Amino acid sequence: MDHKMKNVLVVGGDGFCGWPTALHLSQLGHSVTIVDNLSRRRIDDDLGANSLTPIQPIDVRIAAWHEATGKTIGFEHIDVALEYDRFEALLAALKPDTVIHFAEQRAAPYSMKGISEKRYTVDNNIGATHNLLAAITNLNLDTHIVHLGTMGVYGYDDDGMEIPEGYLKVYIPGDEKQIFQREILYPTNPGSVYHMTKSMDQILFQFYAKNDHLRITDLHQGIVWGTQTEETKLDDRLMNRFDYDGDYGTVLNRFLMQSAVGHPLTVHGTGGQTRAFIHIQDTVKCLALAVENPPQERNKVKILNQMTETHTVRHLAGLVADATGAPVANVENPRNEAAENGLRVSNETFISLGLQPITLAQGLCEETQQIAQRFADRCRMDMIPCVSTWTDNQRPGLVPSS
Ligand code: NAD
Repeated sequence: MDHKMKNVLVVGGDGFCGWPTALHLSQLGHSVTIVDNLSRRRIDDDLGANSLTPIQPIDVRIAAWHEATGKTIGFEHIDVALEYDRFEALLAALKPDTVIHFAEQRAAPYSMKGISEKRYTVDNNIGATHNLLAAITNLNLDTHIVHLGTMGVYGYDDDGMEIPEGYLKVYIPGDEKQIFQREILYPTNPGSVYHMTKSMDQILFQFYAKNDHLRITDLHQGIVWGTQTEETKLDDRLMNRFDYDGDYGTVLNRFLMQSAVGHPLTVHGTGGQTRAFIHIQDTVKCLALAVENPPQERNKVKILNQMTETHTVRHLAGLVADATGAPVANVENPRNEAAENGLRVSNETFISLGLQPITLAQGLCEETQQIAQRFADRCRMDMIPCVSTWTDNQRPGLVPSS
C-alpha cells in the first residue's frame, strides 16, 4: 500500500458517487480537485426531476466543506468530452498522481429513452474516457487512472459460475490435440446503450495499457444504495444527492422513496433479477483503497469487482415492505432482460485489502428514516414510474429497403 498523500483529480466529482469520494479523499489528507460540467443537474432540469435530498450548488458545497474542516477542494467547470484543450491544459498544470473518472451518463433507462439520449450517452461516455486516456498519454504523465465501470457489463447469465475480477482463462481446442490457453477480458453482454459504453470503455483501457503502458484500475461497481457518508453528514450543505425517479433512481432508493410517500413498491416483472449492491460509504472506502494501491503492472488493466452483497429485486422489496408496511405491486418489466437470474461474484481483492462492508440489514433503517421519510414532501410523484422501455425496440414492421 502507498500511504503517500496524493494529488487527485476527481472527474465527475459533483455526482452521487463523485462528491462523497472527493470529501473522503480530502478528509484523508489528499489534495483534491473536482472537474465537472454539471450535466447531471441539467438533466434533472430537463426531465423535471429532482434529487429528493436538497443538494447545494457546487460552490456552496465546497465553501461548506472548508468551513466544516478547514480543508480546500478545487473546482473546474469543464466538459471533458467536448473541451479537450481545456482538460489537457488542466492535467498539464496539475500533473495529478491519480485521476478518478466518474464523468459518464450513468442511467440505463435514460440511455434507452430515445435517439438523442442514445447518441448523447455514447458521445459523452466514450468521448470523456478517450479524451482522458489520450491527454495522459500526450502529456507523458505517470498518472494512475481509476475508472468506475459497472457489474452490468458482465450481463446476467444464469449458469452458476462465479464472475471473476475482469479476466477469464479460456482453453481452445486446436488441431492435433493441441489445447491453447488464453486470458481474455470476461466477454461483455451489455443490456442497454449505457452498459454498451461501459463495455467499450474496457477496450479503450486495454489498448492504452498495452500500447502506452498507462496504469489503470477499472472498478466494476454494483448498484450503489444509501445517501450519506461520514463526511456528507458533517453539515446539511454537504448532503449527497438521492435519485428516485424512473430513469436515475436505482432500485432500492426507488423502493425507499415509494414506501415513504405511500406508493406501492413497483417490482418489474417477477422481481427474480439478482443484482449486486454496495453502500455509498463502502464505495468511498473502495475508492480510497484503489488510490492507495495502484497496479504494479503497466500493460494490463487491474479490474476489481466493487460490490458487497447480492439480492433479488423481489427480496429487496420484501425487506422494505417488512420495514415500512408498504405493499408490493408487480408491474410489467420495461427492460429486455431475463425474468429470473442467479449471480455469484468474486470481490476477494477489496475484502483482502480490509474492506468491512455495511450490509443492507444494518443500513436500511437509517436510510428509511433519515432520508426517505425526512424529505418525502419533496417527492414529485409523477417522476416515480419508469417510462423508458426496451421492449418496444424489438423492431416489428421493419421498413423494407427501397
Ligand atoms: P452521477 O450522474 O451522479 O455523476 C456523474 C457526474 O459526472 C455528474 O456530476 C455529471 O455532471 C458529471 N459528468 C458527466 N459527463 C461529464 C462530462 N462530459 N464532463 C464533465 N463532467 C461530466 O453518476 P454516479 O451515480 O455518481 O456514477 C458515477 C460513475 O459510477 C458512473 O460512471 C457510473 O457509470 C458508475 N456507477 C454508478 C453506479 C450507481 O449505482 N450510481 C453503479 C455502478 C457504476
